[in-house]
Amino acid sequence: MAFDDLKLNQPEIVKIIDNSYNRRKLVHAYIFEGEAGTGKMEAAKYIASKLLCREETKPCCICNSCQRVLNGTHINVNIVEADGEVIKKEQITNLLKESSMKTLEKGSRIHIIKDADKLNQASANALLKFIEEPYPNHYVILTTKNSGKMLSTIISRCQLIHFKPIKKELLENKLIENGVERDTAFVLSHLTSNVDKANELISEGIVITIIETIKKLMLTEISGNDKYITYLISNTNLPKKDIYFNRLFLEIYGLFLEEKIHYLENPTLENHFVEVFSRLNLDKENVKDVIKQLDVICDYEKRLNTYPNAELMYASLFIEL
Ligand SMILES: [Zn+2]
Repeated sequence: MAFDDLKLNQPEIVKIIDNSYNRRKLVHAYIFEGEAGTGKMEAAKYIASKLLCREETKPCCICNSCQRVLNGTHINVNIVEADGEVIKKEQITNLLKESSMKTLEKGSRIHIIKDADKLNQASANALLKFIEEPYPNHYVILTTKNSGKMLSTIISRCQLIHFKPIKKELLENKLIENGVERDTAFVLSHLTSNVDKANELISEGIVITIIETIKKLMLTEISGNDKYITYLISNTNLPKKDIYFNRLFLEIYGLFLEEKIHYLENPTLENHFVEVFSRLNLDKENVKDVIKQLDVICDYEKRLNTYPNAELMYASLFIEL
């Protein structure tokens, strides 16, 4: 059902909107601030559906009006997006011109400005006039990842609502629902808090290769293969001397170690990477030592912001892996 994700991920925000609507206290201008994937656009559509729904319990998500809000074809809902890097002044003046005209449909009109930090001085000033003297029954919702990049004159005239990052477990479950393998979904939920970024990391391919490599490295204990050679063979196409890759590798490796400890302490609970851990002879103290060693390496890496000899560093790490 539409808005189920929003209600699950941002219950406080849905409550704010519902309460304001019920008390007839929706303000005419909102700023929704939060990372990508936190549900800002869904919340904007939620407000629009509430205002335009024709059924008693709003939004019903079924009526013709709700359906058109959801699929982006409702004539009373305008969505303005940057044309390139900026939202141009004409885009705002066109919006204002259209807003001043009567529509065929009665009811509220909702203007959603996506990534409003892309408004430049001219377009922001044009919008400011509209926010200062709003038409009755018109609502403006500005979404942004960072309200700090917006004009303070705009911010001061809007109600700012902050969207929290989505909880790791929720993101993991959502990715699993979308067909992502469980261990991969777990790792991704620790690397990012939004679905779009997670999908980007999947298509990049590096994360999945790193997970597979670490699993193979852990199993060298059983296979008797050489760890460093296994590492080199598994990653032939990856940029081993790249800082981004190195950090990602260590971060994911750190997650494996934490899960190892979790597995050793709670073997009966649902764990990740179980098919690997269950085949190994694990010693908790040994795992803790490796975590300490990894922390030292990560600190060292952060201080230098590079690896003077990445491969040597990995080689020493893999002796303990
Ligand atoms: Zn409806």
